[in-house]
Amino acid sequence: MKKILLIFSGLVAFSNLGALAQQTANPYNGNKRFEQLGTDLPTPNSYRTASGAPGKDYFQQRADYDIKVELDDIQRKITGSETITYFNNSPDELRYLWLQLDQNLFKEDAIGNTTKTGGLGPQASTAQFKNLTDPKKYGYNITSVRDAKGGNLPYTINNTMMRIDLPAPLKSGASVSFSIDWNYLITEYYGRSGYEYYAKDGNCNYFIAHWFPRMAVYNDVYGWQHKQFLGQGEFTLNFGNYKVAITAPNDHVIGASGELQNPTQVLSAEQLKRMEKAKTATRPVLIVSQEEAEAAEKGKPTGKKTWVYKADNVRDFAFASSRKFIWDAMQVDVEGKKVWAMSLYSKEGNPLWGQYSTMVVAHTLRSYSKHSVAYPYPVAYSCHATSGGGMEYPMISFNGGRPEPDGTYSEATKAGMIGVIIHEVGHNFFPMIINSDERQWSWMDEGLNTFCQYLAEQEWDRDFPSRRGEPQYIVPYMKTDPTQQVPIMSGSDNIMAFGPNAYAKPATALNILRETVMGRELFDAAFKEYARRWAFKQPYPADFFRTMEDASGVDLDWFWRGWFYGVEPVDQSIETVEWFGIDNQSPEQKNAKAKTEAEAKRQTMSNIRNKKDITQTVVEANPDMRDFYNSYDRYATSEADKKRFEQATAGLSDEEKQLMNGNKNFYVVNLKNKGGLPMPVIIKMVFEDGTDEVVRIPAEVWRLNDKEVKKVIPTDKKVAKWVLDPFYEIADINTEDNAFPREPEQPTRFQVFKGQRPAMPTPMQQQKQAAGAVQGAKK
Ligand SMILES: [Zn+2]
Repeated sequence: MKKILLIFSGLVAFSNLGALAQQTANPYNGNKRFEQLGTDLPTPNSYRTASGAPGKDYFQQRADYDIKVELDDIQRKITGSETITYFNNSPDELRYLWLQLDQNLFKEDAIGNTTKTGGLGPQASTAQFKNLTDPKKYGYNITSVRDAKGGNLPYTINNTMMRIDLPAPLKSGASVSFSIDWNYLITEYYGRSGYEYYAKDGNCNYFIAHWFPRMAVYNDVYGWQHKQFLGQGEFTLNFGNYKVAITAPNDHVIGASGELQNPTQVLSAEQLKRMEKAKTATRPVLIVSQEEAEAAEKGKPTGKKTWVYKADNVRDFAFASSRKFIWDAMQVDVEGKKVWAMSLYSKEGNPLWGQYSTMVVAHTLRSYSKHSVAYPYPVAYSCHATSGGGMEYPMISFNGGRPEPDGTYSEATKAGMIGVIIHEVGHNFFPMIINSDERQWSWMDEGLNTFCQYLAEQEWDRDFPSRRGEPQYIVPYMKTDPTQQVPIMSGSDNIMAFGPNAYAKPATALNILRETVMGRELFDAAFKEYARRWAFKQPYPADFFRTMEDASGVDLDWFWRGWFYGVEPVDQSIETVEWFGIDNQSPEQKNAKAKTEAEAKRQTMSNIRNKKDITQTVVEANPDMRDFYNSYDRYATSEADKKRFEQATAGLSDEEKQLMNGNKNFYVVNLKNKGGLPMPVIIKMVFEDGTDEVVRIPAEVWRLNDKEVKKVIPTDKKVAKWVLDPFYEIADINTEDNAFPREPEQPTRFQVFKGQRPAMPTPMQQQKQAAGAVQGAKK
């Protein structure tokens, strides 16, 4: 412990401490980490305001669709015919229209195909692989493009985009109707759409998406958004009303983005009765049971059926169709509105799907509605597709998570299935309602959605094993070489490490904002405000950044700069801690200290030996050799000293006297920011008596010196141990320098295995085997 001199005239104690805390480095060291984002953000205008809200001139286009489509189960082919009514709400005149032909991703000469690099890893999907060898021609065959009177409209196809030239410019405020006929061969399921063939029964489950020519977006940010579909960057779409008539074999069960308009024509009397029952049920009701689905698998269709759907104010339309589908449903209350939570899955998904899927759909709608905006649609489907991941469309999603053939499953399969259903149903909010531009900015839907997924998972089950959201889970990625990383703010098709950058890192950043930087109250209100402002509109990154600051009153430019525009990791270190106490300069204290020090210094080796070896000194032998100084206490406090001290402290207030005579400890903590990304400093002090206290210092502590700061912390008790980031809040990539004194290093342990370990049965299989052995022994 060091002592701080307390100088008597006036209260100088704290100015002294201030001097102690002065930075040793040059205060201006090129640290731009706390500069405002300024020109990194687009200039606000009357379409998008500086506060992050839509401006007074905000506009968006609208496209209504009337579609007739047939699913050919023999040729695995889609044939469709649509009438699009396009409303030009922009202030501009449009001479041509751009449409998206996403199925052209599967054409041989598609940019997405021809620019694919790298080898064929074990992760290459069969659909990708098939593209290289499959003699079938995929992609759209556009057979007609006509105006409202039936006349041909000239059009040009450029890869996954199509331009239709209008005979006369479409004026601001006007609308135009035109029709397109097309067909295409359905590809094998590639993660977003396609068929899944089951060799055992010879049937297919169809997941049909980006299956019709769709209007591209024309907006205030990009004009026409005609960035090609390369496969990674998803979709940029307009809202509109849909009427879709789907014709399929008459033994198929269909689910789609919308409300079924003709249930009495396509459902049996028994199924209609079950739907009635499901309206008030608290657990999902089977509309088509497993036995019924298995019987259908073995049968053949006797004709066709047309299922008619309507969907209002949606940005897209997808559907699923199969004779293999089991169908369960339950109407649930979401913020005062009745919504159908439903699932479609073949028997291969059971028992997991029957037990969980629809219950998870209901929970997701409620959880997301609470954290963003109330779910506005009448229906939400979760459909079981075999792939491990999932894919989202308005009111319908295709999700993985499949048990073993024997019906057992691992904990990871169960958690993965629940997680992916939450995630894909959650996409109904981001981006299906808060309609961000996915082709440009993947994080705006995946990151925000993964963050909400984490919240919903934790509300689903205590200690749910969420993969993303907790700061410590991003650490392995943040430890990777920064020269091999891209910032979150990278265009969708240019993102390396797509999982971390589009999903995990932004989700983690939001969780850190909520728990550590802003606090739950400020964060939740701002996040909800963003959802409210941009529901059924098209936000861009600056609208999110600005709204989060505008609604919370927290300056977050440093945070966006560090987490979204940068690739630096967080690595804080507690280098040293110096201990100071107060020296009040009282003569008694001063003298006692001098005495102790002098006595200690006399314990030299010579003196220790002399004590024994010199049996008697001359003075000891001759008492008359003693005088005044042989008995004088040079450390005694004189009356004169006492008086002088009293006079000096007479002017001090009671508070000052208390500080002076108290036993306060002052610790100077020397902190380093080794990673670069500035973050709040959270320090736990463990006191000598075993109790502890946590000090939280905002990130702005780094604003003058972003590399090293000293911080004075006063305490009544003595600190035995200091721990940085004790609750794993800031994604610190190196925790070895987070304790002072340092923790002793743990030895590195070797794992000793010979050869490959055999595959582990799932815990459910182990239990089954054990039960079987016990039964066998009993026989
Ligand atoms: Zn997603």
